[in-house]
Amino acid sequence: MRWHAPSLEDLRGRSLRYVRISVTERCQFRCPYCRPESGEEPCDAAPDYLTAKEIGRVARVLSGLGINTVRFTGGEPLLRRDLAQIVGAVREVGVTDLALTTNAALLTLKRAKELADAGLKRINISFDTLDENRFKRLSGGAPMAPVLAGIEAVGESGMRLKTNTVVLRDENESELLDVARFVWARGGVPRFIEVMPMGAGADLTMVPAVEILAKFDIDPEVQTANLTGGIGPADYWLHEGRRDQPFGVIAATTRNFCAACNRIRLTATGEVRACLASAKGTELRPILRNSALGDQALVDAVCEALAMKPEGHRFSDGIPGETPMRLLGG
Ligand code: SAM
Ligand code: SF4
Repeated sequence: MRWHAPSLEDLRGRSLRYVRISVTERCQFRCPYCRPESGEEPCDAAPDYLTAKEIGRVARVLSGLGINTVRFTGGEPLLRRDLAQIVGAVREVGVTDLALTTNAALLTLKRAKELADAGLKRINISFDTLDENRFKRLSGGAPMAPVLAGIEAVGESGMRLKTNTVVLRDENESELLDVARFVWARGGVPRFIEVMPMGAGADLTMVPAVEILAKFDIDPEVQTANLTGGIGPADYWLHEGRRDQPFGVIAATTRNFCAACNRIRLTATGEVRACLASAKGTELRPILRNSALGDQALVDAVCEALAMKPEGHRFSDGIPGETPMRLLGG
């Protein structure tokens, strides 16, 4: 008899391998495509947020079902003072592919080293511009220097770096190659994102992938992506055909990737969501906080959420996502 790794499949045969865990809804930035209500300071977990121990337990259950990649996100995950404990709790249950998405404003070298020591392997930093004034405007007043220091800290602490740039019409669209060069020079992989109609992003004009690729002299009608179907939603290309100049494009609207979606999401308050664009999900927190209920109840709730996974979003039909991105972590 052959042994098969456990696998969570949805009703359309999509295999789920990847969970994005939001650890807070709060953020100190106000990016125009996301825009949380108000700025926030570093904080302990709010009582309605899952604790490090609870997140570790959910990760153990998900890992038993075949989920082998975890990305921590938010809101701004570094606002959680116990982020390294959360990473450690997930590492302890045997999940080794651990990543973080952050604005990096609080990513000091000390913090980056703590996270790497806890088991974090990869960091994606939101990085929309190299222009100090534009950065201030887009972030809602934050200085750029700590973010630049955070980018340096990723490499210094031995983790892998990617950056996320949401491409904004009449803002940063002329800077994409400069941003890419800056990231390549630090050994990272830049990625460029079509703004999605979610939360404040629904009011913005999307710059389509074809225009993003044109900035790198690539015509997708003529060339195909160098790498597709990785663990995340990006297609990867090589600028000037050079292996040391890779970049990613995440084009939710014009190059829909829902058919290959391998992701589920866990909100900071413990709700499992099977789709970025749908508000449907199941609550794990009441199960986690009821000592009479065991892990099977968590498995059942995850499967119930999975049964609600739609075929995909309908951004290209003008139908926006039902939940702001900061509640789901992207
Ligand atoms: N605060 C962290 C950060 O900014 O990296 C993590 C959370 S943020 C919601 C996760 C990712 O979602 C970021 O890379 C951000 O650029 C992206 N994002 C947020 N709103 C978006 C939108 N409407 N369209 C496309 N990307 C969006
Ligand atoms: Fe904060 Fe990230 Fe949203 Fe920007 S994208 S406002 S950094 S949560």
